[in-house]
Amino acid sequence: MTGENTQKRIAIFGSTGSIGKQALEVIASNSSLFSVEILTANSNADLLIEQALKFTPNLVVIGDESKYLKVKEALASSHVKVFAGEKALEEAASMDCYDMMLAAIVGFAGLRPTLKAIEAGKPIALANKETLVVAGDIIMQQAVGNRVPLIPVDSEHSAIFQCLVGETRNRIEKVVLTASGGPFLGKKPNFLVNVKRDHALQHPNWTMGAKISIDSATLMNKGLEMIEAKWLFNLKPEQVQVVVHPQSIIHSMVVFEDGSMKAQMGLPDMKLPIQYALAFPQRIPNAFPRYDFRKPNTLTFEEPDLKTFRNLSLATEALFKGGNLPCIMNAANEIAVFAFLRNRIGFLDMTDLIQRTMEKVDFIPNPDLEQYFESDAEARNFAASLIHL
Ligand code: NAD
Ligand code: MG
Repeated sequence: MTGENTQKRIAIFGSTGSIGKQALEVIASNSSLFSVEILTANSNADLLIEQALKFTPNLVVIGDESKYLKVKEALASSHVKVFAGEKALEEAASMDCYDMMLAAIVGFAGLRPTLKAIEAGKPIALANKETLVVAGDIIMQQAVGNRVPLIPVDSEHSAIFQCLVGETRNRIEKVVLTASGGPFLGKKPNFLVNVKRDHALQHPNWTMGAKISIDSATLMNKGLEMIEAKWLFNLKPEQVQVVVHPQSIIHSMVVFEDGSMKAQMGLPDMKLPIQYALAFPQRIPNAFPRYDFRKPNTLTFEEPDLKTFRNLSLATEALFKGGNLPCIMNAANEIAVFAFLRNRIGFLDMTDLIQRTMEKVDFIPNPDLEQYFESDAEARNFAASLIHL
């Protein structure tokens, strides 16, 4: 495929983040396949301007309205349109000028723009897992109703998705999500109690944004991913299993009804699932380093330590109970991680904060979208009140 007409026009929501930047690398290496039409950032105006000058999209959106003039002036001599504010994100998501959204905003903030894109019939390359954790039922219903494919970018879900290609008629017995275990694998609470932000941000296998790095250290990331998997692949909670695999070579597995197992493997590099989602159903050749089976290396597997990493137990509870509980948990977690990153609470306090919020906010078995927003706000307020944010 070459030439203008065959280019897929991409909108990157969250282009200044870890996923957004890697997606732009993929696009830059495959400019005959993709063009960039929309870029958005929350507050990093400098990087957004730099990206806009390099990729000349149709439109950029800066979330922080106080940075609008700065971006506008920097792009004055280009044809790039500049919007600002939260509402502008939704407007941009509804525009005709693009073919696929890469949903790479972090957290609950990604929900509304992604919903707008689905309503507009746009295929989604989904990195933002919180969207499915909070309102997976509504997102999946809308996606099916609008015939919108959701292609996962999260490496575990991309792995499962890849294992399922060609298996539409075959039933899944279970999926096995692999977890690296994060930087504190094997540690106990007496160690974790003293852990500080900078240590928790050091992931052994992946370089990621701050929030997901902390989620990986607490294992909340794997909890969020269990719920994400349930919605993406229409699974019962008991069909989602987690195994710790510290080398991060097997990205996840599917066990079929006949006991046969498929795994998707590769070196840990998010550019691979990103480019798979952008180009699906094609695979794009590249020169990324390959895993070499001839070198001496060992792949190991163990059970997660649920007693130490209690966030994973809380997430399992939310997965099984459903309703607005995952939404409440997610909101409390966002507040907890934010507070930890600002050295306001300790590593283990995050779990207590989430647990207390899950106990406090009223359970709703079948919430509508408005109730998800209310539960999110209530959970945030309660969690913040516990730490006087
Ligand atoms: P990041 O913090 O590096 O980047 C987040 C992006 O979202 C930035 O562009 C930022 O400007 C934007 N943003 C943040 N808050 C916003 C708001 N309130 N409104 C509008 N935009 C906002 O995050 P990341 O690591 O790139 O992760 C993005 C998403 O992808 C997360 O949901 C994460 O769980 C998921 N994910 C990331 C990785 C990874 O390797 N980084 C892997 C799997 C899944
Ligand atoms: Mg993941």
